[in-house]
Amino acid sequence: MTTAKPYSLPKLGYKYDALEPKYSSEILELHHKKHHKGYVDGANQTHADLQEARSNNDYAAIRQLSKNQAFNVSGHVMHSLFWRNIAPEGSNKPGKALTQMLKDAFGGTKGLKDQFLAAGTSIQGSGWASLSYEPTRGDLIVEQIFDHQSNTATGAVPILVMDMWEHAFYLQYKNEKKRWAKAFWSMINWDDVGERLSRLEGLDVVGSKS
Ligand code: MN
Repeated sequence: MTTAKPYSLPKLGYKYDALEPKYSSEILELHHKKHHKGYVDGANQTHADLQEARSNNDYAAIRQLSKNQAFNVSGHVMHSLFWRNIAPEGSNKPGKALTQMLKDAFGGTKGLKDQFLAAGTSIQGSGWASLSYEPTRGDLIVEQIFDHQSNTATGAVPILVMDMWEHAFYLQYKNEKKRWAKAFWSMINWDDVGERLSRLEGLDVVGSKS
């Protein structure tokens, strides 16, 4: 195990205008520097608040602190994935192992796309669509995540996430969620998605593989 370190805002692997015209530099910069940064700061603050609660043995605020922890840590994690899931060149194809798993789980890439976009564009309020590896069945699933952290299958790990909060697209796409979702799909860096999947091989949450 490595030593724990503070949450920090990751650098992007491309410039703010690199995804133009599909994703405007104005949104990208705000989204990264302001929105994502807010979750990083919130996650570190909540960590400090919980340390203080423990040192004072004062758990009066534990309900709110637990909520803050789930919200901010998840917000940071989801955005960190999101930036790497998309790339200026975009739209390369899923690799061999991922293609096979998509076929088994969804009947193919089109099956994933249809379910993923339907999940993303039908969220009530703010949330995400996520392609996640569900280790207990050893399968890929699509999750419709509320806020950053709710409505998830325990143990499932997101490998491809689409931000459906209005801050992610409204300045450019207004209320046209389907147009934003299609633009997102065309920016996917499938190499990143495939690498994430390969790193999860052997993950065993419930001990069923031992
Ligand atoms: Mn966002």
